[in-house]
Amino acid sequence: MEDMEESHVENKHKNLAELSIRSHRAADPPICSECKELDLSFFDPTCLGCRDLLKNPHTTVAEIFAIIRQWVPQTQQNIDILVEEILNRGININDRDGLTDMNLLHYVAKSGAIGMGDIKVSSKVTRMLIDKRIDVNAKCRWTDMTPLHLAVYFDIEEVVKILLEASSSYDIDCRCKEFDNGTALHIGCMNLSAKSVKILLEYGSSPYAQNSLGKLPIQCIPNVELSENNSEAEHLALALKNELTTAMKDTDPNIEKQKLNLATLHALGLEMHEKVTVAGKVGILRYCGSTNFASGQWAGIELDKPLGKNDGSINGFRYFSCPPDHGIFAPLTRVNKYNKNCVARFSLPDSSSSVSTDIQLGDRVIVAGKNIGHARYIGPTEFASGSWIGVELIDPVGKNNGTVAGTQYFQCEPKHGVFAPRSKVQLANFNISEDLDLNEDSLTESPRTTIKKSSPKLNSMLPKPKVAKYILTGHWVFS
Ligand SMILES: [Zn+2]
Repeated sequence: MEDMEESHVENKHKNLAELSIRSHRAADPPICSECKELDLSFFDPTCLGCRDLLKNPHTTVAEIFAIIRQWVPQTQQNIDILVEEILNRGININDRDGLTDMNLLHYVAKSGAIGMGDIKVSSKVTRMLIDKRIDVNAKCRWTDMTPLHLAVYFDIEEVVKILLEASSSYDIDCRCKEFDNGTALHIGCMNLSAKSVKILLEYGSSPYAQNSLGKLPIQCIPNVELSENNSEAEHLALALKNELTTAMKDTDPNIEKQKLNLATLHALGLEMHEKVTVAGKVGILRYCGSTNFASGQWAGIELDKPLGKNDGSINGFRYFSCPPDHGIFAPLTRVNKYNKNCVARFSLPDSSSSVSTDIQLGDRVIVAGKNIGHARYIGPTEFASGSWIGVELIDPVGKNNGTVAGTQYFQCEPKHGVFAPRSKVQLANFNISEDLDLNEDSLTESPRTTIKKSSPKLNSMLPKPKVAKYILTGHWVFS
């Protein structure tokens, strides 16, 4: 793993009482001579020798962090004593364990795990750390998890509540790369953390948040098979599904989802409530976002003629309202801006997919039939599902510099970067004039609603040592 230097930032302008945040270089847990003879491998708070060792001023913060890392009831149930000893040594409250990059709140938030720690102790110390103004939103570099993510993962409802009440600025839907860029709600659903999910929803977590696979929290609930061994899991999965379904009904998906998918729409050159075409039919774009019936981004369209299949609702879930047989749903990538000259040409043979699949990095390409540039990024993104191409445009008519929502996919001058679904990008290496005449509306394409497993994961850019799994020791129920 990357060797993290202890940071001794000397800042004379700073208040001397305010110690800079340190990352304590990993150490081995100390052990008293008696326990060592008994071949006990962990710190035992009931042992006098171990207690003496803990109080000994020569025992370092790093060594106490090493004790806290021991995922055994003896340490987790006594985390208050351990935290107190660390604080007694005069650290900055936000100091990190150099091995895991976790701060004290990360450890305490998960210490109350059922069958391991003591929820009362965990809650008490969580409150104490918050009172001392520990950073409640701190992320661990290796797992990208906040204390909330951990408390939800282990379904420690008391701690989840305390954390959410701690600060009005708490980002309840903060993303976590380790879990496909999902929110705490996704993590709770994946892990059947029913109690925590209930609290998250009460506190306003969005049931419509999508992870980088385009999945909603409800779609992350594992399919638990009926059997004697997991009747409890089955019960939890069912309770979660009910909880999420109710929450989704209570939330207006049109507001929630459109908010999230505006960027995707704009990247496709589309606007809500504008005239569009889909499979040769004309209508108004009424809905854009994820659905309960399939993964990926979908468009709901109110057709101008009764050539549709529904009235805007599917399986009892309403996405928008229109007269019967006027509503139709299609993968977002199949929807095009309306252009009256091009509807008739829609039945042209499908040429786009064979053209677009050959694009490679560095290729000269045309985006949306008009802007020329070079392909600089090909693959999945964090802002939308499906395969995207990041293009460095020749003219400053783009929308970014290769970075979208804090994630850098490539680098170019501001306003020269643009992202488009594969289907909107054509190779410009041949017969450019003809390509430019070919309006995008005449192209058909296959839906791209899934991400290939083999796609390079963006979050693997950071070095991630094996401690990530270690931090979540022993509780992989469904993995
Ligand atoms: Zn001992």
